[in-house]
Amino acid sequence: MHRTTLFALLTAAVVSACAKGTPEQQVVNAAAAALGGRDRVLAVKTLVIEGEGSNGNLGQDMTPDAAGQKFILSGYKRSVDVPGGRARTVQTRTPNFPYFQGQAPQTQVLGVDKDVAYNIAPNGAATRASNAAARDRRAEIYHHPIAIVRAALDPAATLANARTAGDQRVVDITTANGLAFTLAIDGAGGLPTRVVSMSDNANLGDVAIETSFADYQDVGGLKLPSRITTKTDKYTTAEIRATKQSVDGDAGDLSAPAAAASAAPITGPPPAEVTAQPVTKTIWLLAGQSHNSVLVEFTDHLMLIEAPQNDVRALAVIAKARELRPDKPLKYVANSHHHFDHSGGIRAAVSEDLTVITHKSNADFYRDMIGRAHTMAPDALAKNPKPLKLEPVDDSMVIKDDKMTVQLYHIAGNPHADTLLMAYFPKEKILVEADAFSPGAAVQPYAANLIENITKHNLKVDRIVPLHGPIAPFSELLKTQAAKTN
Ligand SMILES: [Zn+2]
Repeated sequence: MHRTTLFALLTAAVVSACAKGTPEQQVVNAAAAALGGRDRVLAVKTLVIEGEGSNGNLGQDMTPDAAGQKFILSGYKRSVDVPGGRARTVQTRTPNFPYFQGQAPQTQVLGVDKDVAYNIAPNGAATRASNAAARDRRAEIYHHPIAIVRAALDPAATLANARTAGDQRVVDITTANGLAFTLAIDGAGGLPTRVVSMSDNANLGDVAIETSFADYQDVGGLKLPSRITTKTDKYTTAEIRATKQSVDGDAGDLSAPAAAASAAPITGPPPAEVTAQPVTKTIWLLAGQSHNSVLVEFTDHLMLIEAPQNDVRALAVIAKARELRPDKPLKYVANSHHHFDHSGGIRAAVSEDLTVITHKSNADFYRDMIGRAHTMAPDALAKNPKPLKLEPVDDSMVIKDDKMTVQLYHIAGNPHADTLLMAYFPKEKILVEADAFSPGAAVQPYAANLIENITKHNLKVDRIVPLHGPIAPFSELLKTQAAKTN
């Protein structure tokens, strides 16, 4: 028998076994049958998945396309109250790369109880997480075959657009509580292969979060996947291998801790607070929150170093720059590196007509980032589209006029990122950098390389004006190495 004929017969057998209903219901019914039967699926109350795996370092790896940095997960335990819409993940993660918080294992507790997302710190303190985190964690509950098929079997769910994609059958599902998913099942056997839902990311805009299922095993009269892989856009964010799973076992208390449940909802980033500290007559440190920027005055225009985080922060920093020197146009933003917290305001800067100066290895990524759709949460650039003006920097670039000289250098070989630029002001003996040295931080895993780069270019630095933390004398950077040898 030809393989195609066998495949057609198998498909026909699955279809005829659940031939009742619409094409959409047939996909859902086939999935339910493959998982252990409609009644068994509908009876599930809790799932507990224990295992190991890894998390990717989304938006924080060495280059925009790199995927080598991972947090290795141990003691992974995910408990889900399926009908109750509650879930909690406990995991210990250990970075396989030089991490800014150090490389010690770090235990995380990440939960959601209906509309309340929360985190529990190792000292037991619970804090409420943002509404955006709650949205994503609620959706994540349905990124599991049992939960999505159970929700799809609810008569209050809306099913649409049954179709085939290769050897898979696909259906769109809107759950009774209004969440939208796409479910794909194996066209022959009926087991779910993946669930997709859409989310919003400040840098990437509308992103598909896709969870794939493999290596199904028998647990409590059901088939459960023992390999679960999640991608955000094209980036792998989680790979879990289950070593122990249970259905309707003890999932523990999954309600949100009181401190989180009673806290005010976090609807977006905090309001921007921008302070302006004169460093010289023509350089200002724009600080006030976690991420700093630096304003530089030339004879006939201004340049900003860094548009960080998001629209809220970046637009406030741009407004502050224009307020400080209203008679000169703000023309450029120099970007320290591609990490999402440092490039999250680039789209806002483009919407304000600024030309982006960045290391050449970020150019393709920023071109893509500027062109991406932001329909779920339209940002400043989505509302006011502008083309990207980009000036890539190779090993170095000098920007100068009668009044001001700025030398930009690639920070080569730094274990934090391959895309880092630092800015040196030769007359003022000032260095501006991000993440390579953050004055006051307990761990400085990237400082030795920064010193190497300063030495290599023979820079005479008096003060470091950092993009995290307060202005520091150069001696404070050197001390990070002295401390190491003690
Ligand atoms: Zn960084």
